Order: sequence, then C-alpha cells, then structure tokens
Amino acid sequence: MDSKVQDVRLSSPSVNFMAHVCAYPKDPRPSAGGFVQMRAFSKINLILDVLRKRSDGYHDLRSVMQMLALHDTVTISISKNNNGFQLICSDPALPTDDRNLVTKAAKFLIKEYNIVQPICIQLEKRIPQAAGLAGGSSDCAATLVGINQLFDLNIPLHTLMEIGQRFGADVPFCLLGGTALAEGIGEKLTPLPVHPHCWVLLACPDIYVSTAAIFNKCKPGVSNNIDDMITALAKGNLRDIAKNFNNDLADVTIKLHPIIQKLINEMITQGAMNAAMSGSGPSVFGYFLDKETAKKTQVKIENITGRTFLTETIN
Ligand code: ATP
Repeated sequence: MDSKVQDVRLSSPSVNFMAHVCAYPKDPRPSAGGFVQMRAFSKINLILDVLRKRSDGYHDLRSVMQMLALHDTVTISISKNNNGFQLICSDPALPTDDRNLVTKAAKFLIKEYNIVQPICIQLEKRIPQAAGLAGGSSDCAATLVGINQLFDLNIPLHTLMEIGQRFGADVPFCLLGGTALAEGIGEKLTPLPVHPHCWVLLACPDIYVSTAAIFNKCKPGVSNNIDDMITALAKGNLRDIAKNFNNDLADVTIKLHPIIQKLINEMITQGAMNAAMSGSGPSVFGYFLDKETAKKTQVKIENITGRTFLTETIN
C-alpha cells in the first residue's frame, strides 16, 4: 500500500457504519414488538483501476467508491404467520428465493445464530438492478445489519464484513459506507476523507451488461489517478475529484453500448463538472455544483434514456 493511502488511513475518523445503513426505531427488539427499517444505499465508482487477472478468475482492482442517497428500503419484522422466512419484493422481476441476496443473507444468519422466530422482510426497490450501483449488495448489507440489530446478535462490523464478502465483493463497502478505497477484489477497504456534498445525476440505460464478460475483455493496467483523487478528497476540492474520474472498464462497455458515451458527453455538454461510468456499467453519473443545472440536464438526458435519478453524495 502506498504512503498516501496509509496517511489517510491513519488520519481518518473512525467510521460509524450504523449511521450509514440504519434508521432504527427506538426499541427494535422482537420482545418489544419492534421491527427495523433500513436504507440500503447505492454506490458509484469514482475510479476503477483493473490491475491484474488472478488465478481464481477474479481481477484485482483498486477503486474509490462513494455512497449515494438513492436507496432501497429493507423492512425486517417478526412474521405474523408462522412461515420460517418470507421475502416480499416491490419489483416482480426480482426473484425472492435463494437467488436474492436478501434471502441468502437472512438464511445464513438464521442458521448460524439459531434464530427461531419467523422473519418477514419487505424489500422496496428503487436502485435499478445490475446497473453498476450495487443495489443487490446494499440490500444484502442492510439485511445483515438489520437482523443483527433486531435480534441483538451483537455481531461486530468486521465479522459482518467477512460474512458479507461471501455474498458479493461490494457488500463490505455497503456495510462501511461513505467514501473508501477498495482493493483486492473490492473487499479490502480503507476509509477516505469525507467527500464534500455534491449533486449527482444518474442515467441508467435499460440494457444488460455482463460484469464477468466486461472484466474478461478488459486489458489490465495502472492509471495514476488514485493519488490525485485522494489528495482532492483530502482538500475537499470537488472539481479535482471530478477531474480524476477514471474507469478501466468503460472502453469495453462503451464499445458494446455506445449510448454510455453519449450520456457522458451530454452530461458534460449540459454543465456537469465531469461524468463517468460506474462499475461495469451501464449506469453513468455526472457531478453538478448546483441542483438547477442538474435538474435541467436530467430533462435533456431523459430524451436519451428514461431511467434517471437526481441524487447526492452522502457520508
Ligand atoms: P455491483 O455494482 O455490485 O457489481 P450491480 O449494481 O451491477 O452490482 P446488482 O443490482 O447488485 O448489480 O445485482 C446483480 C445481480 O444480483 C442481478 O443479476 C440480480 O438478479 C441479483 N440480485 C440478487 N439479489 C438482488 C437484490 N436484492 N437486488 C438486486 N439484484 C439482486
């Protein structure tokens, strides 16, 4: 790890992950007839460097990840009827069985921690699926934190992160929140300085992108933006943060789906400080100094793709 990253790690305030993911009622315990309602926040990759392909088929990467206010809502309660576990999802296109990361996470904790009460989870989706915004990973993280809280399991954050990692490389970041440098396959996290507030326009074209195929076609390399990004974050300089957006996967995804480049160009033309693709795509994000310009751009962008969200960074 380079010295700049270490400096940041030493000077970073301790991260209160509970503040990121949770909106707790006063007494959520089942004995108090409680429930937990969690906000599962989306993320973007401000930088995504693909370093090398590993022998296990995954890729080592370095990425600066930022949490956004756009969120799903996960409500966890003790079930009235006696089903062991039930997931109800607002999006009929999403399976509710063991393919759903919420079900996977819940069933894991039920088994490992011998939870005997029947659980009902309601999942209200807003984050588009398979869009590069970590919607599924964030639902998974919210489920782990919510069940931990509801049943007073007292599982520490680092253990939740280890559990979460088995369900997806982005789950640990979704537990941590804020702004972080992700290394390894995304699971090694270093909190970064607090990101200054910024309006973020998301454009999520309704196209399917295979993450595995994009990674496999990408030629690994090293960009030099990470240090500059960390310096920009430490200075709280939004323009410099935006200037250093970089995504090694973008060329591959754009070749397959030129609409992504069109969305990036349009955001910049309309006044974004900069715009880039998140994850393996297809979502594009643009940074805006003022909400009015972002709103006007959203109207223009909706002529290109119908799925847009005006949101903001959160810490
Ligand atoms: P990342 O940015 O972490 O790569 P993504 O935004 O590209 O993630 P997700 O929305 O997290 O993708 O979903 C990836 C896959 O996970 C989808 O194909 C979907 O079927 C599956 N999945 C399982 N559970 C969920 C969930 N609760 N919400 C969304 N997708 C889910």
